[in-house]
Amino acid sequence: MRSGRICVAVLIFFAGQGLAFQWTLVKREGRDYVPIEEVAKFYSFTQASYSGDNINLEGSTLRMVGSVNSRELYLNGLKFILSFPIIKVDDQILMSRMDLSKLVEPVLRPEKILAKPVHTVVLDAGHGGFDQGAQSLLGSEKDFALDVVQRARDLLLKAGFNVRLTRSGDVFVPLEDRVSFADRQSNAVFVSVHFNAGAREEAGGVETYSLAPRGVPSTNSLNLTLSDLQPCIGNIRDPENIALATAIHAALITRLGVNDRGIKRARFIVLRDSTIPGVLIEGGFLTNPLDRVRIATPVYRQLLAQAILRGILSYNRALNRERTPEQKMVKRGDSSGPGSNDAGASVWDPLRPNVYTLPEESRK
Ligand SMILES: [Zn+2]
Repeated sequence: MRSGRICVAVLIFFAGQGLAFQWTLVKREGRDYVPIEEVAKFYSFTQASYSGDNINLEGSTLRMVGSVNSRELYLNGLKFILSFPIIKVDDQILMSRMDLSKLVEPVLRPEKILAKPVHTVVLDAGHGGFDQGAQSLLGSEKDFALDVVQRARDLLLKAGFNVRLTRSGDVFVPLEDRVSFADRQSNAVFVSVHFNAGAREEAGGVETYSLAPRGVPSTNSLNLTLSDLQPCIGNIRDPENIALATAIHAALITRLGVNDRGIKRARFIVLRDSTIPGVLIEGGFLTNPLDRVRIATPVYRQLLAQAILRGILSYNRALNRERTPEQKMVKRGDSSGPGSNDAGASVWDPLRPNVYTLPEESRK
């Protein structure tokens, strides 16, 4: 329907970017969209192909794949769930401006995020005490989550981080108390560890949640509700939240070799009400026959813990990317976080092709 379409050319300045880029804004049903061709141009994808409703953008180190009427977007094979589906209007393929600014921009240019690498990690084992969480015959979510957190604590301490646990034993800690505990830490990130349960036993794999930006629905709800429009304190960390989720999820998927259920959005209390960047990991399904056997093995839980460490190191490196050697020298021992000065400090690990193998390539 042509009548509902309004095109406006606007200049959008992303934080920290000196040059303006002229984006065409297309309004559909009260929402702003931008042409995918302009996304390709802005982020220097040198090859763009559109066959039918499939989108394939390729640059020197990066590949973006998506399709019309889908919320799935793949960056170097890593799965993201968009807040709104990609749409096609008058033969033009469009992405929501919200997904451009709240996902694509911070993920592709993490060095533009105005945040420092972190020194402290708050690890949050889900549930505890009478609250068992999901259960299988091989054990309870609360116990598996605590075990992963304790393993991650040991690895993070060895790597030079300060580590704080919201619970270190089998006790119930209210969600609000976990949030206020996290908020007392400075220069910190929050990592909550959970395991999933599904109605169908086929559901399996790992997913990572990042706080939903204001004005977008949670991934698992069908429609926008009034509460999705309310401001949440956690949204002050929108760019860090999605960058941290990307770093940790990429480490989980590459490390564990499990089904990638994607990076999703939710408004869990521990993400919504916290002032430090945070993610919530669902490390597999206790209702899935394969996942639950894996989760019950110490080897798998150690891999999960290692992925948390690698993800946080990768997050710190990403925030530090493209700084000059002089700037790094100044920052060393000062505000740069642990792991931010090691080899490869200028690279965003999760999306580097050599580190993250594209599924399409691995099949050849
Ligand atoms: Zn849980």
